Amino acid sequence: MGGDSTPNQDGQAGQTVKGCWAASLGDCEGKISREHLVSQALFPDGNITVSGLHWCKDGPKTVGLASLTGKILCRKHNSELSQLDTAVKQAFESFDASMQLFQVRSKLKSRRWTIKTFTIDGKLLERWFLKTLINLSHDGPRIIGEGSHPAGLPNDELVKIAFGRAAFREKAGLYTAAHDGEQVTLRQGLSLTPKTIGDNLLAGMFSLCGYRFFLSLLPETFKEHQGSHLMYRDVHHWYAPRDDKGRPVRSHRLDITWR
Ligand SMILES: [Zn+2]
Repeated sequence: MGGDSTPNQDGQAGQTVKGCWAASLGDCEGKISREHLVSQALFPDGNITVSGLHWCKDGPKTVGLASLTGKILCRKHNSELSQLDTAVKQAFESFDASMQLFQVRSKLKSRRWTIKTFTIDGKLLERWFLKTLINLSHDGPRIIGEGSHPAGLPNDELVKIAFGRAAFREKAGLYTAAHDGEQVTLRQGLSLTPKTIGDNLLAGMFSLCGYRFFLSLLPETFKEHQGSHLMYRDVHHWYAPRDDKGRPVRSHRLDITWR
């Protein structure tokens, strides 16, 4: 990586394209174009509900993803992160398939199922949440992550993590959030509630397809957030439709793994 200082199409040196949030990687290429902040292909008619960011100060705001655009990354870095959208699309399909299987099997009321397993790549999902958190708060008044670097930008370590060139430290990263007895209902769209301390944006609570995730940019362990249990990284969601006597019978599981 880096080391390439040949002028790109814009005639700028390759290292830093102004306005690309990944400029600290030192290998920007190509112009900055206006892109969707959250890939529209993921939510064809989708909305996003966000509270607490600079463009929705007066409470939660729901907007169509199609209208959410910004100049955030150079061409090279934008295309490098598009693989994360593909991974998230696969995650959606697994969420969707496991919910549908639950509904089908609930109607059949069997006492015994052939257990099926759906697997989601947690590493890529975690990086997608990080990129989305950065995209949506880029250019805003908060410092993204720990540190005292300029507001509206992530620190250098977070940029490397988003691009898979470094790992989160200790217990920073993705947690699954759940209440006791929470029923997941599949819903279109995405919501984000950022968590800030002082001037720093340090976490985000997301809801994606009805599942809730907490992305922490801090190394300490979190067990609970606003009444939800938080489970760090690897999780196995069991689905257990009820049989004809009303007893839950394990049918299939959805694994989010970091291996
Ligand atoms: Zn760049």
